[in-house]
Amino acid sequence: MINYTNTLRKHKLKATPQRIAIVDALFLNGHMSTEFLYSIMLAKFSSISLATIYKNINLMLENCLINEVKIPHAKSVYELTKSSHSHLLCKKCGNIEDVAIDLEELVDKISKITEFQIDKTDFILSGNCKNCH
Ligand SMILES: [Zn+2]
Ligand SMILES: [Zn+2]
Repeated sequence: MINYTNTLRKHKLKATPQRIAIVDALFLNGHMSTEFLYSIMLAKFSSISLATIYKNINLMLENCLINEVKIPHAKSVYELTKSSHSHLLCKKCGNIEDVAIDLEELVDKISKITEFQIDKTDFILSGNCKNCH
């Protein structure tokens, strides 16, 4: 059992039961949209509002506990912050998988060629996942 209280405190957030449940849901589900997270939270806290979910997501983003993954033409999903990785997005089922790709060398090369200072390397590869092709 992971100690979510410590995880929250490490990110300077008070460990409320709702926040612990949010971290737990993100840990179990990987990438979640606000709506999906809300539906899971509603099952545990029947009076929780969507506004509370947004508020907590924003706080956790500010404190770098979670990370926003921007999906082209769709709503962002959120995940617990982990070491840098890229994403595989299935166009059929919408599933999002993590994939470890070392972009450092590539980014260095591109920076050198273009003299462009790259500070964002969000990278999404889309296609069909193994269950959908
Ligand atoms: Zn799929
Ligand atoms: Zn991810």
